[in-house]
This record gives sequence, C-alpha cells and structure tokens, in this order.
Amino acid sequence: MNAAVRLPAFPLALGLPAEGDLESRSPIDGRALGAVRVASRAEYDATVERAVRAFAAWRAVPAPRRGELVRRFGNAVRVHKDALADLITLEAGKIRSEALGEVQEVVDICDFAVGLSRQLHGLTIVSERPRHHMLERWHPLGPVGVITAFNFPMAVWAWNSALALVCGDPVIWKPSEKTPLTALALHRVFEEVAREFPEAPEGLSALVQGGREVGEWLAADARLPLISATGSTRMGREVATKVAARFGRSLLELGGNNAMIVAPTADEDLAVRAITFAAAGTAGQRCTTLRRLYLHGSKRERVLGRLKRAYASLEVGSPLDPATLVGPLVDRAAYEAMQQALESARAAGGRVTGGERVTVPGCEQGFYVRPAIVELDAPIECSQHETFAPILYVFPYETIEAAIAGNNGVAQGLSSSLITQDLGEAELFLSGEGSDCGIANVNIGPSGAEIGGAFGGEKETGGGRESGSDAWKAYMRRQTQTVNYSSSLPLAQGVKFDVDG
Ligand code: NAD
Repeated sequence: MNAAVRLPAFPLALGLPAEGDLESRSPIDGRALGAVRVASRAEYDATVERAVRAFAAWRAVPAPRRGELVRRFGNAVRVHKDALADLITLEAGKIRSEALGEVQEVVDICDFAVGLSRQLHGLTIVSERPRHHMLERWHPLGPVGVITAFNFPMAVWAWNSALALVCGDPVIWKPSEKTPLTALALHRVFEEVAREFPEAPEGLSALVQGGREVGEWLAADARLPLISATGSTRMGREVATKVAARFGRSLLELGGNNAMIVAPTADEDLAVRAITFAAAGTAGQRCTTLRRLYLHGSKRERVLGRLKRAYASLEVGSPLDPATLVGPLVDRAAYEAMQQALESARAAGGRVTGGERVTVPGCEQGFYVRPAIVELDAPIECSQHETFAPILYVFPYETIEAAIAGNNGVAQGLSSSLITQDLGEAELFLSGEGSDCGIANVNIGPSGAEIGGAFGGEKETGGGRESGSDAWKAYMRRQTQTVNYSSSLPLAQGVKFDVDG
C-alpha cells in the first residue's frame, strides 16, 4: 500500500459497534473493523412479529406517501454518500469509484421507486357479461425477507427494499456475514429517516445479522410471503426448496457465468476496454463479471495481444490507493478457489497468463491477485462453473451460430454481450434464437447494469428480476376483481343455475 494511504478509523467514527460475536475483517489487509451481535432465534421471532404488525399499518398508508419516505431516505443517502462508500471499500474491498457507484445505485433505485409510488397500475378488462367489468389490482404482499451477498453489500438490499416499501411491504434484511457493518450503517440511515416519518410503523425495516442459519430461518418462515435471495447457486437451491415447501414466493438472484463474443467487425479499442473492465473490474467479484470470451479467429491474435498488455498494466493494490483498479479478493477461500480453478485449467491444457498472488506492501494479510487469462480450444469442466475471482477463459470461434451456442452452453443465464458492427449478427444475438440470458448487450460488456431495466437471469441464475421495469410486481399480490352493476346474475360461459328463493 502506498505509504500516504491510511485506513480511516471509520467504524468508530460512525459509532459502529466494536464488540459482538460476528467480527468483520477488511479484505484490504485482514484487520478487524468491528463486530456485531448475531440475532438469537427469540430476537429474530420478535423482529418478524414487529414486521407483521407493521404490515397492517403500512399497507393502509397511500402509496405516494410510502414513496415520500423512500424519497427522504434517498436524499439522506446522498448526504452520506462519501462515508457509505468508504465503508464499502473497507469491508468489501471495492475501489473508491466502484464503491461510490454502488451508493449511487441506492440513490437511483430510490428515485425510481418514488416515481413508481404514483403508478403501481393494474388493468381494466372487459367482461363477457352485460353491465359487468373486470379489474386487475395490485395489493401489498406482506413482510419481505431479503438475503444478500457480500459483493453488493448495499445496492441489493436497496433494489429490494425501495420497491418493497412503496409496494406496502415491510422488509427484514439478512446481510452477508462478510459485510455486517456496511449493512448496519446503511440501515441506520434508514432508521433515522423513518423515525421522523409519522406514518412509518415500528419494525417497518429491520436488520437481522448472522450467517447461513439466520438465512435458513427466513427461508422457512411462513410469515414472510416473499424471500428475495441473492448469492450463490448453492444457496439459491437450498432457499428455493425451503420456500417452495411452504408455498412461499422466492425471488432468486444467483451466480452467473457470463460470456462476450468479439465478432470480425468488432471495434477493437472498444472490445479491449469492455473486456478489461468486465473481467478484471471488482477483482472479478460481480455476478455479471465476464468469465468467458469467444474471440473470432480473425481477431484472436490481435485482441489477445492487446488484452494481455492491458492486463499487465492493471494496477493491483489497496482500494484506498486512488491509482488502484483491481482491489483484493474477499478472503483466503476466494483466493484458494481461484488457484484451484487455474490448476484444473492447466491440467486440462489451458495456457494461463497471470493469476498469481500480488504482495501489496502494508497489506500482506490481504489476498491480491493479478487477473488471469486462460486460453482454451474448447470449454472444460472448470469454465462451466462460476469461480468468484478474475479468471477469463478465452475460446476461438468461427461462426456466430457457434459462438451463440457457446454463450448459451452453461447452466447459468445471467448476462451476455456481443461486440460487432454487423447489424445482422447483433439482431440474431438479441433475438429469440440468440442469447438465452436475462441480460443481452451489444457493444458494451456484460457488467454494469442500470437500475431502469429489470435485472436478473435465467436457468441456474434463478429466474428472478429486481430493480427496474415491472420488477415491482414481485412485491405485490395480484387480484382479479369482477363488478356487476346490473340487477341480474348471468353466469360466465353461459352456465345456467336458476333457483327460486
Ligand atoms: P453466498 O451464497 O455464500 O451467500 C449469500 C447470502 O446467503 C449470505 O447472506 C449467506 O449468509 C446466505 N446463505 C448462505 N447459505 C444459505 C442458506 N442455506 N439458507 C439461507 N441463506 C443462506 O454468496 P456470496 O459469496 O456472499 O456472494 C457471491 C455470490 O452471489 C456469487 O455466486 C454471485 O454471482 C452471486 N450474486 C448474484 C447476484 C445477482 O443479482 N444475480 C448479485 C450479487 C451476487
């Protein structure tokens, strides 16, 4: 670490707790940042009971007023943006610009939700019966359980809770056990705003800290009609099974194994920049990180050469150093998983460039790596999985159809992209015969989504959609209503059932 860069005494400055049974360690240098108390089962139950009571009050508050609370929260986040971003950097290891970007996402989804609070519109539907009409209306659903991953320790809760709150639902948040302080700080901002808001009932939003076990309580809890869970496919499979067993609803945002296709007509400058940010940015720890690159034969040598030069020039180091572009992996386990994947790739004939541990002076306990490029002729076992680290598998291709088949040839279906100037190829990629992912981009990389669109993916990514478009519908229940304003009672489908009485 650059000698001029110092860790701020941040948690204490924010009044964050120093004692508890869940300790938070910084990926930057392994130092303890603070600790929180894990919720006991009794505390958890009391929290859910408060949320159930809060629901009865909150659903009766007009939606635009609910939006007003979210507007005030978004404004408070604007005020605390720098401090919140500092905390993301310390606890999740993101470089400053990405940490600021994450806080901005919180603000953006609040703005989006405020507009939504004056919409939440249903349909009117004509009836086959005279002097009848039908309506489709959306009602608040109930308390929502939100389980989040370490790598977007603020944004994912905000995507869920900004929408849930305007939809009339209380929220119970179980953050990652790796980022408890970040969650605590953001939630405190919410609590302060809610305290000043007369209609906000006690328990409208709550934080329950802990590991997997606390997440399991939420998944099995029939008082929570919706569980929104973000994390690994393994976690999603376990949560979905539990939620389905009690006929609850789950919204799953799970792992990705995202690809990019670089076509013969691709703008190479754009391609190299898009690949480098998407594959090496956030140290490969985004669900939308680029993990598989399909390079057309005519581009292979030149783009690979430029990519290796770009990779060699990437500043790997402490995210507190403004020059750094690639910060640390979250922990030792992430580093070991990366080394294991690279070993398997070598054993399967892959040619590996980079991937070695980087020693950062002053941060010897952190796990820093040079992002890796693995050249392969065809997919191998480990390129079919998500290793949550900066490994880019590179494959050759000859036809766009083969490249699309490669893009789709994994179990995950989150994000995808094509770099081309060929309109026909672009349209094919975006068509029903093209990418099978929830997100398909042309001439940008697969990562870095905006909140206006629905975010999520297919297959083992879980099928959930969060954030923009009509993702709000997941947080409400749909009701079909029929109103008869005549004095007769015709039955649908011409059914006769005449009774005297
Ligand atoms: P993880 O699956 O280890 O943990 C995620 C959360 O689930 C944590 O809060 C954890 O405590 C909880 N959890 C774990 N097992 C559980 C269980 N059986 N029941 C209930 N809760 C349980 O994931 P992580 O390492 O924190 O995050 C990285 C993963 O998240 C990657 O796979 C990444 O792709 C994925 N992710 C996906 C998205 C998306 O929107 N699709 C966004 C961010 C991260």
